[in-house]
Amino acid sequence: MTKEEILLAHRDYLYPSVFHYYKEPLVIARGKDQYVWDADGNQYLDFFGGIVTIGVGHCNDEVNRKVHAQLDRLQHVSTVFATEPQAALAKKLAQITPGQKLTKSFFTNSGTEANETAILTARCYTGSTEIVGLRYAYHGRSSMAMALTAQSNWRLGPVTQAGIVHAVNAYCYRCPYGLSYPSCGVKCAQDVEEVIRTTTSGRIAGFIAEPIQGVAGFVTPPKEYFPIVADIVKKYGGLFISDEVQTGWGRTGGKWFGIEQWGVQPDIITSAKSLGNGAPIGLTIARPDVADAVKGATISTFGGNPVTTTAAKAVIDFIEDHKLSINAAEVGAYLRNKLNELKDKHPIIGEVRGMGLLQAVELVEDRETKKPATAHISVLMEATRENKILLGKGGFFGNVLRISPPLNISKTDVDEFARLLDASFVKAQAALAVA
Ligand code: PMP
Repeated sequence: MTKEEILLAHRDYLYPSVFHYYKEPLVIARGKDQYVWDADGNQYLDFFGGIVTIGVGHCNDEVNRKVHAQLDRLQHVSTVFATEPQAALAKKLAQITPGQKLTKSFFTNSGTEANETAILTARCYTGSTEIVGLRYAYHGRSSMAMALTAQSNWRLGPVTQAGIVHAVNAYCYRCPYGLSYPSCGVKCAQDVEEVIRTTTSGRIAGFIAEPIQGVAGFVTPPKEYFPIVADIVKKYGGLFISDEVQTGWGRTGGKWFGIEQWGVQPDIITSAKSLGNGAPIGLTIARPDVADAVKGATISTFGGNPVTTTAAKAVIDFIEDHKLSINAAEVGAYLRNKLNELKDKHPIIGEVRGMGLLQAVELVEDRETKKPATAHISVLMEATRENKILLGKGGFFGNVLRISPPLNISKTDVDEFARLLDASFVKAQAALAVA
């Protein structure tokens, strides 16, 4: 198909709710390592990785060699049969989850399903239906996951909220109480208890949160936040579910999982995205007594698929062998410095935040009022496209740049990215001045 035919078919034969960043969708034809190429052959430096998913680079040779071999050996049998790739991945996961306490896995195809499975598990274990989530969270696009999600623009259609309530999140830049850290005493953490006491029976099934809120624009809580919340959740009988769809697999630097950065031991972890480096796999991993509470038979036709579990095991081995979470910490710190330099130069940057290779830049029209620069970011995104860098857009107000390159990038890649992002700010500023 020509590029024009692709764009026409894309427009005419997909749900209109399929969402794009640019005025015209960018047609990507191929990818390798930290680069992708569009249908016209232009090369882009990819610092978004297909929404925080290409953790070990596009079309990673080592991963793909193992996947190709598995494709030729056995492609599918379903969860009613045992296979080596599924067993090997589950065994490996039991060894790398925090404290080696989460040892039983259930595989699905996406982060949404991983969270569905986690909520089901918590409800089976506790006999309670009540779940506490956080405002600004994103947990997926099934009906239940949209109810867990607390960003109205990602909740399509009528959402049934039964059993799900939300506490305020730890969004220090836009503190819900107008306070400043640390003099605030991390008041937001207490809201979890307030919500449990005022809106639930007092006996909850669980609490679910992202260690760093991804779609919300890498909203990073203060270090005290999750330990306080974990104690509250325990006090009311709930399980702590860490949604690591974006923060897992070394992304935050130095640790496998984001929740480890906060020193909290979760009861269940969910993940997807970078686990498969593009292979569709969802993971729910729980403490054995918790997993055992899901009685009766259940099937996921594609869950634990030999090809996707081979991909995931290969990704984990690659991260381990190449010490990529260490690289994420080092190159992430370097990237953070570069972004702070851009902040010094461009007043539109209100805050730089995140951890490791999960870095966000929140744009504001005015640093005093913090009015979200929602209109400006569209102009900037077009400029980044013209300058051949890919990055994400997010945040509740749509005013946050999300930067999440493969974990095996170098400081040279960061230099190039920062130079092109700087040029994009200048270009967007000029375009806005004319408009
Ligand atoms: N949880 C989080 C934290 C996510 O970021 C996402 C996807 N953006 C999901 C769950 C849902 O994952 P999926 O799109 O694979 O269903």
